[in-house]
Amino acid sequence: MSVGSRPIDYSKPFELGRACGMKSDGWAAKCLAGAGVGLLAVAGVRAYLRRRPKGYRRPTWRALPEGDLLQQGFKLSRVPEDLDFIVIGSGMGGLWLSAALTKCGYKVLVLEQHYIAGGCCHAFSQNGVEFTPGIHYIGDIDMAKGLLGAVGDPKFQADWHQLGASDDGGLYDKALFGDREPIFLRQGRDAWYAEMCKHMPGKEKLLKGWLAALDEARKAYMPLFFAKAWQPWTQWFWLRLCCRAGLKWAGKTVHEVIQELGGDEVDEALLTFQCMDHGETPRTASFPVHAMIVSHYMNGAWFPKGGPLSLARTLTSTIFKGGGAVLVRAPVQQIQVTNGRATGVQMKKKDVVLNCRKGVVSAAGLDATIHRLLSPEDVDQYLSEERDFMHSLGQGTSCLSAFVTVKGNAKELGLSDHNVWFFPKPPSVGYSLDEITAESRANAAKMNSTEGNFFCFIGAGSLKDPECMEQHPDTIALEMITDAEAEPFLALSDVESHRRTAEYKGHKKQLEERFRQILLAVYPKLEHHIINIDVSTPLSVDFYLKRTAIYGLPHTPQRITSPLPRVVTKIQNLYLSGQDVTTGGWMPAVFSGALAASQILGYNPLDLMCGRTVIGGMYKVEGPPSNKVLQAQASL
Ligand SMILES: Cc1cc2nc3c(=O)[nH]c(=O)nc-3n(C[C@H](O)[C@H](O)[C@H](O)COP(=O)(O)OP(=O)(O)OC[C@H]3O[C@@H](n4cnc5c(N)ncnc54)[C@H](O)[C@@H]3O)c2cc1C
Repeated sequence: MSVGSRPIDYSKPFELGRACGMKSDGWAAKCLAGAGVGLLAVAGVRAYLRRRPKGYRRPTWRALPEGDLLQQGFKLSRVPEDLDFIVIGSGMGGLWLSAALTKCGYKVLVLEQHYIAGGCCHAFSQNGVEFTPGIHYIGDIDMAKGLLGAVGDPKFQADWHQLGASDDGGLYDKALFGDREPIFLRQGRDAWYAEMCKHMPGKEKLLKGWLAALDEARKAYMPLFFAKAWQPWTQWFWLRLCCRAGLKWAGKTVHEVIQELGGDEVDEALLTFQCMDHGETPRTASFPVHAMIVSHYMNGAWFPKGGPLSLARTLTSTIFKGGGAVLVRAPVQQIQVTNGRATGVQMKKKDVVLNCRKGVVSAAGLDATIHRLLSPEDVDQYLSEERDFMHSLGQGTSCLSAFVTVKGNAKELGLSDHNVWFFPKPPSVGYSLDEITAESRANAAKMNSTEGNFFCFIGAGSLKDPECMEQHPDTIALEMITDAEAEPFLALSDVESHRRTAEYKGHKKQLEERFRQILLAVYPKLEHHIINIDVSTPLSVDFYLKRTAIYGLPHTPQRITSPLPRVVTKIQNLYLSGQDVTTGGWMPAVFSGALAASQILGYNPLDLMCGRTVIGGMYKVEGPPSNKVLQAQASL
């Protein structure tokens, strides 16, 4: 067809107007053609974003097994056939990834060495109440719900209790610095600012600068998080193109930022008392990690009803319904590597070897992966970079905890659901939080002594969980935590045999007394109400998690600015997930699972830049049907 003298060239968009009888050089033709191209582009992008997750295959759902989903002991008969993936470790990084892969039609087996699934989300009962050592509060509640909703089974959807919501304006943290007025942190940025202005009069400029720095660093840091998902070359470009600002912030310590803002040691201590949430001190912590923690809780803090295990249950249910399994009392001895490719795992007991088709994921931590799960030869050949990097960082923070059972009425005893940060002495110019922490650590390590106070985080887990309170209204579970070096405790006992020496037991008794004194200093009314104190040391943590560093790798600038560890390794089909890939914390651990899923399912930086993410993709496909429907289908 031709209009006028010249034939129409259909490859040129503006020629469409001519085809519709408009003048070739008319503005109307150009507008029409432009709008057409624009609409096509918008429709294309929308269709692209609405697509199912990459790598998706329709899953076959089945009914749940009998019994508690979190305590299915390892038996060969429970290992599903034709496994696609084996995941080592049932922390949030392992479970979220496994549930995502399950929703995309893959059969996944999660192996957990502990007697219950959930990793740090585990809980245990004592004197009728439940203790939850590894989760005390979670912020950014909408994001938490969104992440769980993306891959969790709606049947076990977690419900949440907000700390301080009933009568205290969303109070989540209270800081006690010797005889200084306590600091109360309540939900909302304005509440935070008003409270800090009271404690730091005349320092409004510093406070505003601090808030601005928190916002800027947190935003700039996000691309660095994603960098861990890419292959080395892609990561190299990504870091140079998208992470300049993030790397700049990550290279600074909290102390350096406060100095730049003109703050002194007292300002620093008051602004950063939540340091124990990431395990560093102002002089050792990378600033964006601290910024993320402070901002994470600033809009309020929540605790899952039914305890943190409910967060693991919703994910575990998806995995079982998709034909996979989460098996406990299943310690993995070694990852099987053949010709540079991970093919399965060898179990500790009975010399059982399990194979899988698509890959092995270690969600047990970098330390366990390198020192316990891979042979020294495989580490030398493929993971020497990660090993050297880990050794250069040194040990992450370890802790002492006390699990205290209290009998009585919480209100009358002055107990509430917010956390308390107790510091024996107030900071002063020349006496910083770093020094307070160092003194505290030295005191906690003192053997044969009931002297010397240490800093302590105190949380009342059972008061945060309305279900627990309903069942045991007169019994309260308190958790106390302090920083402590692992070495003195490791030296006192044999880690492998779990045999504890008399000296170790004696030291634990003394620590019990010291925790009691601190508790009574904070809550004097508890004097005749404490019915039990049980102390846990880095050795206990090693027994339950197979590491002493509670938050994994240290959160120093050296670690945070490094491209390591990545989700991918030089061993083909061996992937990493868990807090060491991102940073410590429940939410970063979940993100590590999402990063690993992105890599495994084939997402790339272009997808991310167009807004197509693995988390969004999970919402585009159906979750598991209810168990009733599945049972009915099975009986047909
Ligand atoms: C004392 C404490 C308090 C905390 N408080 C909070 C808090 O209030 N809020 C918050 O957001 N975060 C908190 N965290 C941090 C948070 O709980 C963790 O960062 C996060 O849950 C870690 O998840 P993960 O996926 O890395 O794995 P983890 O939860 O560490 O799980 C790893 C799992 O791997 C298993 N494993 C190891 N080796 C083997 C093997 N050979 N075979 C089989 N399994 C193996 C371990 O048993 C473990 O279950 C706290 C952590 C601790 C320790």
